[in-house]
Amino acid sequence: PFDVLVVGGGPAGAAAAIYAARKGIRTGIVAERFGGQVNDTLAIENIIGTKATEGPAFVSSLEAHVLDYPVDIFKSQRAARIEKKELVEVTLENGAVLQGKSVIVATGARYRQLGVPGEVEFKNKGVAYCPHCDGPIFKGKDVAVIGGGNSGVEAAIDLAGVVKHVTLIQRSGELKADQVLQERVRSLPNVTVITNALTKEITGTNKVNGLTYIDALTNIEHHIALEGVFVQIGLLPNTEFVEGSLELNGHGEIIIDGHGATSMPGVFAAGDCTNTVYKQIIISMGAGATAALGAFDYMIRQAPV
Ligand code: FAD
Repeated sequence: PFDVLVVGGGPAGAAAAIYAARKGIRTGIVAERFGGQVNDTLAIENIIGTKATEGPAFVSSLEAHVLDYPVDIFKSQRAARIEKKELVEVTLENGAVLQGKSVIVATGARYRQLGVPGEVEFKNKGVAYCPHCDGPIFKGKDVAVIGGGNSGVEAAIDLAGVVKHVTLIQRSGELKADQVLQERVRSLPNVTVITNALTKEITGTNKVNGLTYIDALTNIEHHIALEGVFVQIGLLPNTEFVEGSLELNGHGEIIIDGHGATSMPGVFAAGDCTNTVYKQIIISMGAGATAALGAFDYMIRQAPV
């Protein structure tokens, strides 16, 4: 068995594996896609100490760093189940079972997609999901935020301080965000709120040049000229496979304590799959380090197996 088996190979999983392996203990990673969401990112400018890099380059250096240690990496494998027996058992979708004295779940999250034409084609070419990450790229430009919940309204307020103008687009007749955020966003001179707007298409040629929506009340189609579209309609944690095994919050996020411990003894979690409030690369890496140190502290307190 592994001393520490990490499920997930994004920034959280990579950090957890490095911290574990540096204790000289047997460490493995099972990951569907090593690098996680970072594979889908172009410019990254907020990894502190690295002024600028690109997603694929950063994934390569993450992998090289992990492989500097004797870590077994199982790629293209999905975990299907996690159970506490004498050890913790992770069953893969292919039926194989991996055992760990401790397990760190770092399966990340995925942004809910709008599912309209243009969204996939213009990803990283004007279509963005993370205002903290990509806001500065649109300095002085006109952008839209799609989604009138807390994250959409927060994004609009945040971007209004960086870009020239923000159009906030909400499907239903009213914003769903907290009242105080709604008041704040409506007070900003460079934000326009449009409700009852069904996004039909993100338009462009080689990058985004606008967005078409249908006014649900009049059925009339409108086009707005824009250089960026931030989709803020939800971040879904990849925790389906631990439902019923680990305690989750109302958003499906794994609940962890200050050591990264979950509700199952010996199982720790880190990064975007957990109830950590902010979802960023450096935050996930710090959480991965915490979970590995938590797992190590747990292990040295167990009777030898
Ligand atoms: P993830 O990166 O999501 O990794 C999850 C890992 O788990 C992957 O290896 C995945 O394949 C694996 N996995 C999932 N389910 C299973 C399963 N059942 N079995 C096995 N493996 C599984 N953050 C920044 O700080 N700066 C940025 O500039 C930035 N830009 C971004 C741009 C985009 C387009 C996106 C989508 C995100 C961006 N982020 C950025 C956010 C950042 O990428 C995430 O916060 C970070 O990757 C989270 O790391 P993680 O390890 O928790 O999860």
